[in-house]
Amino acid sequence: MLFVSLAKSIGSFRFCVTSSVLTLGGPGVGSFIWKPTFCFNRVSNLVVPIGRKWSSETGMADSTAAGSKLRLIDVGANLTDDMYSGMYNGSKKHEPDLDKVLDRAWAQGVDKIFVTAGNLEEAKRAVNVCKENDRLWSTVGVHPTRCSEFDTKSASPDEYIKELKAVLESSKGKIVALGEFGLDYERTQFCDVETQKKYFTLQLTELGAFSNLPLFLHCRAAAKDLHDILSANRNCFPRGGVVHSFDGTLEELNLFLELGLYIGINGCSLKTEENCKVVQEIPIDRLLLETDAPWCGIRPSHASSKFIKTKFDAAKKNWSENTMYKSRNEPQTLRNVLEAVAGIKELNEYELAETVYENTIKLFMS
Ligand SMILES: [Zn+2]
Repeated sequence: MLFVSLAKSIGSFRFCVTSSVLTLGGPGVGSFIWKPTFCFNRVSNLVVPIGRKWSSETGMADSTAAGSKLRLIDVGANLTDDMYSGMYNGSKKHEPDLDKVLDRAWAQGVDKIFVTAGNLEEAKRAVNVCKENDRLWSTVGVHPTRCSEFDTKSASPDEYIKELKAVLESSKGKIVALGEFGLDYERTQFCDVETQKKYFTLQLTELGAFSNLPLFLHCRAAAKDLHDILSANRNCFPRGGVVHSFDGTLEELNLFLELGLYIGINGCSLKTEENCKVVQEIPIDRLLLETDAPWCGIRPSHASSKFIKTKFDAAKKNWSENTMYKSRNEPQTLRNVLEAVAGIKELNEYELAETVYENTIKLFMS
């Protein structure tokens, strides 16, 4: 372990930096992680100006005055979605551009991305994508809107579970969470409530202890039932988990916090003033950030858009691979989610980013 300490006073303005080299033993994590921490006299004493610019010279997000770059982890991006292959509703709009999408994310301080998988076939594809890039990790699980696959895509639900277990076993070290799974009562046309509950519970009980992974949970208008199933099966997920894309009420937030869960925030969690009030109440040591790309971007009509500082060019006509494709979200906009949450909570973005980074490592990689 190496520790370096630095403390300086500039007039009445004091800041300190403590950095350490840590060894982490989590799945697929490199041996060394550079871990700077910052402290300030007051939030208003910002070492880093809040309005940063893209640096065309370095192609990187601006650094802090202390010389450390912003570090972010997108805990949920659907990078196996057809849109990253240029396909939109079955019609080809452009060539595959995932490499460019990832390059833009890394340049904005995104350090790692967890690729969300929502069924068996997606899990296999996600794992393969992640094996080719040491900054990508995957989830394995079946989304509530696709849980009829347990009855239709294999000889039996047990057979489907066996195939999920095979993916989990063959790709240890590249899978960070079980999921995305849970309950979605807003889209029961794809899978009815009872089927959703049955196969969410089956995954928890069959794959929870088997994998010993934290959970990546989906919840839409189903907080009470999700909470009840999780409570009844608490021994199936000793490492906890995150309720991603959280858009619930304060009462629902408290239900999940009491279970020890983390809360994942993306653009879909930040649409209304009511959403923003709930986000204000999330303890920062339980907060994770995500994009849910290619969905859930922050739109100008969203209540949180007033906090956005970094603008990303997007186009459809005359699109080039060096810009965002309009209406398709991508992980570089995690920066906007950070800006929005920092704005809502009146916190320094860099301090918040560092806390969230540590939360993410703690839940998924240690
Ligand atoms: Zn979801």
